[in-house]
Amino acid sequence: MTPPGSSTATALSDADLAALRSPAPNPAAVDATERQTPVTLFFLYLFIVVPFLALLLAIPMAWGGFMGPVDVGLLVFFYSLTALGITIGFHRHFTHGSFKANRPLRIALAVAGSYAIEGPLDRWVADHRKHHAYSDKLGDPHSPWRYGDSLPALAKGLFYAHMGWLFDVEQTPRAKYVPDLLADRDLARISRAFPGFVLGSVLIPGVIGGLLTWSWAGFLTGLFWGSLVRIALVHHVTWSINSICHVMGERPFKSRDRSGNVWWLAIPSFGESWHNLHHADPTCARHGVEKGQIDISARLIRWFERAGWATDVRWPKADRLTARRIP
Ligand SMILES: [Zn+2]
Ligand SMILES: [Zn+2]
Repeated sequence: MTPPGSSTATALSDADLAALRSPAPNPAAVDATERQTPVTLFFLYLFIVVPFLALLLAIPMAWGGFMGPVDVGLLVFFYSLTALGITIGFHRHFTHGSFKANRPLRIALAVAGSYAIEGPLDRWVADHRKHHAYSDKLGDPHSPWRYGDSLPALAKGLFYAHMGWLFDVEQTPRAKYVPDLLADRDLARISRAFPGFVLGSVLIPGVIGGLLTWSWAGFLTGLFWGSLVRIALVHHVTWSINSICHVMGERPFKSRDRSGNVWWLAIPSFGESWHNLHHADPTCARHGVEKGQIDISARLIRWFERAGWATDVRWPKADRLTARRIP
């Protein structure tokens, strides 16, 4: 989407808040194909609750000896693969066009992001483009400020921004926000194949664990660490960008919202938590632009560029950064 200008940061206005609190708009006015069905809501609950329960069991499981080197390898590998699919693929490439990718890389990024189980590519990108279009204002699908500025309102808003918004029956209209993805036949096919990616994401780590250890125990612990715990970690780290990074962190750059740079999430989020810079200059391929700000996704984009797979990378430019910096 178009980069925000240099207007001053404000949260929801009183009018915005009033509109948010008012009853939902007339359902007849909403495109029926853009509403969640009870079936998708059921699977949404399933794929949020079960991995989260696994996360709660992770420490006792590790303590009890149910975590071998193969499990650690599966956890690290599938965490990195799927989270980078989101950060480099769904986010920096497909949502913001911060670099061009050749066809094999484009497909690989779409597939890797789909394995993160955060919804189909077209839906993820539509929601995120809308987030930038309305950040922390009425229309933002997941602003932590939607209920107001008081502490109880913010606690409620943080939960909503983190995961509550996923259960909204109304969905961002794709025809309006992602016509480019719908027009690309390969990408449209990948979006439609999402249930298959979900199945693969859950089963493949277990199968690899079973084959490498040649045991059913290896299959089960591979499933636990490589699938369930990994899915929960990727989910909650990604969602923290929507919740935590819109409430706390430093704001050295001008943005229209309350996005902040949260240093302690930089490594697990692969650079996405330098979120204030990202809202100030959304098409920039590097979010951690200051010295010492680790941005693993940007490092990989650099490698893709060197390999000739990524071109037209929008690296940070000194004059753009200066124009956006709060004096
Ligand atoms: Zn944001
Ligand atoms: Zn973004």
